[in-house]
Amino acid sequence: MSCNVEEMYQSLGISKKVYDYCEEIIEGLSDRFEQIDKVAEYNQLKVIKAMQDNKVSEACLLGTTGYGYNDLGRETLEAVYASIFHTEDALVRPQITCGTHALALALMSNLRPGDELLSPVGKPYDTLEEVIGIRPSKGSLKEYGISYRQVDLLEDGSFDYENIKKAINEKTKLVTIQRSKGYQTRPTLSVARIGELISFIKGIKPDVICMVDNCYGEFVETIEPTDVGADMVVGSLIKNPGGGLAPIGGYIAGKKECVENAAYRLTSPGLGKEVGASLGILRDFYHGLFLAPTVTASALKGAIFAANIYERLGFCVVPDSTESRHDIIQAVTFGTAEGVIAFCKGIQAAAPVDSFVTPEPWDMPGYDSPVIMAAGAFVSGSSIELSADGPIKPPYAVYFQGGLTYEHAKFGIMRTLQEIVDAGLAKLDK
Ligand SMILES: *Cc1c(COP(=O)(O)O)cnc(C)c1O
Repeated sequence: MSCNVEEMYQSLGISKKVYDYCEEIIEGLSDRFEQIDKVAEYNQLKVIKAMQDNKVSEACLLGTTGYGYNDLGRETLEAVYASIFHTEDALVRPQITCGTHALALALMSNLRPGDELLSPVGKPYDTLEEVIGIRPSKGSLKEYGISYRQVDLLEDGSFDYENIKKAINEKTKLVTIQRSKGYQTRPTLSVARIGELISFIKGIKPDVICMVDNCYGEFVETIEPTDVGADMVVGSLIKNPGGGLAPIGGYIAGKKECVENAAYRLTSPGLGKEVGASLGILRDFYHGLFLAPTVTASALKGAIFAANIYERLGFCVVPDSTESRHDIIQAVTFGTAEGVIAFCKGIQAAAPVDSFVTPEPWDMPGYDSPVIMAAGAFVSGSSIELSADGPIKPPYAVYFQGGLTYEHAKFGIMRTLQEIVDAGLAKLDK
């Protein structure tokens, strides 16, 4: 019997040269990985404690049908989320179809005609442009008479406090802060920095609602934005908190009033949180949440490994090889469409599902340029699973994230390097 891992990699298309190059880099990462494990340990206990404190029982894993009145599992799960985020309440539902939906719901339910929305951290995630009406769209906030203002980050990535102060006016009702960089090469915000920004804003207008788009940030640190003053955090269950097992869903955790508003919008005025059958989905929501801290840690290790490889090869990487992490996304700027495409081919070739298909750029709804996406996921479109995407436009950056296990993330990155080297886009000679 052979247990030669190098041979195994070779049988999966990794050359000896790529293998050796990668192993050398990994040797230097043990301290970083240890820190990540410490955060995962804390967050694992946080999740277990929340489940115990809220008396999660076997009955909670079952579901309701029809109206879904008195759904014990759903109500308990929402209490568990509220415990984890230290909030008054939470809405965690399979009827929230994705992250964009969760964010749109939080915004549309907490804003009224005449109100103004402010983003003090620059342009929000691409799909929110249509929600807000930055790009004209049916049903946007703009159509409902809700105006929008934006203050960009300064050149060095810091907050433009002076212009944020000027932008806050009597109409400003809600401030949206995106934790993760999304499809941009700006730095991701740490929870501590989000806290500073919220204090500044509340110092000017105490009753403004501070919402954080928490997508990709959950469990990366030991604290969450609601621990530093956010009134609402919003995210997708097919990212970090679903642990790879949630097949759909989104969450909103925060102040009771904010969550209630969202519930009345999701279902109906008068019904709110009382309806919404959970069907058979709750077991996966609980199970995934339980795994989420270690799954997030695996994804983080993969991201750090990628940063170290591509930085050494001379590509611009955000975050860089040494800086601390506040979300699971890794951006690598290749500067050419070929680089982005080769990277995505590598991720696809490493997948457990659909490894034999070749990803190609296409015009995805909600995006303003062709996008290439690589994923061979158990849950379609899940980006807590190993996946990569990049808009085919300058600066030709690819955004990589996920990996339910570190071993898969590692292999996936090695496979991308193989594609990049085979395409002649980088040389491994030092
Ligand atoms: C993924 C993401 C969204 C949108 O989530 P979808 O589930 O793709 O609709 C919004 N904001 C950020 C920062 C994200 O990463």
